[in-house]
Amino acid sequence: MANDPDCIFCKIAAGIAPSFKIYEDAEALAFMDINPFNEGHTLAIPRAHFANLHEVDEAAMTATLRAAKRAAKAIEAVLKPDGINLIQANGPGAAQSVMHFHIHVFPRKFGDEASLNWGLKPGDRKAIGALAERLKAAIG
Ligand code: AMP
Ligand code: ZN
Repeated sequence: MANDPDCIFCKIAAGIAPSFKIYEDAEALAFMDINPFNEGHTLAIPRAHFANLHEVDEAAMTATLRAAKRAAKAIEAVLKPDGINLIQANGPGAAQSVMHFHIHVFPRKFGDEASLNWGLKPGDRKAIGALAERLKAAIG
């Protein structure tokens, strides 16, 4: 499986960088975003490295979407957000900051005023880790 030794998401997939993983299978995984816009902000990625939507193969994309759906179901059950967006960025104009294909599972609250370039504010790692345990337990 192709990976990039300098890529933080490849390192997370390989278990050599820390993450709050809530779901994993042979092809894909889902883990908490450490700069959550709203509580429960999660990322789904393929294990293999693909820079973006143009590079990712269909099998990896499908596996990533499946992981995103599983994560969304757990987020819905545990947090009952007002809604959930799936967001996926490609290239600097789309504010892609990590060059490993990923889908944001992005819980929404009425009035949160999310914009597509929402900025990255560090979250409370203790709270993110505690929520990851609740979501992991809710993965169907
Ligand atoms: P994007 O801007 O669409 O490329 O999204 C990349 C996301 O990855 C951002 O929301 C970051 O907060 C998140 N991120 C970057 N590094 C990590 C990490 N080590 N663990 C979890 N999330 C990360
Ligand atoms: Zn990678």
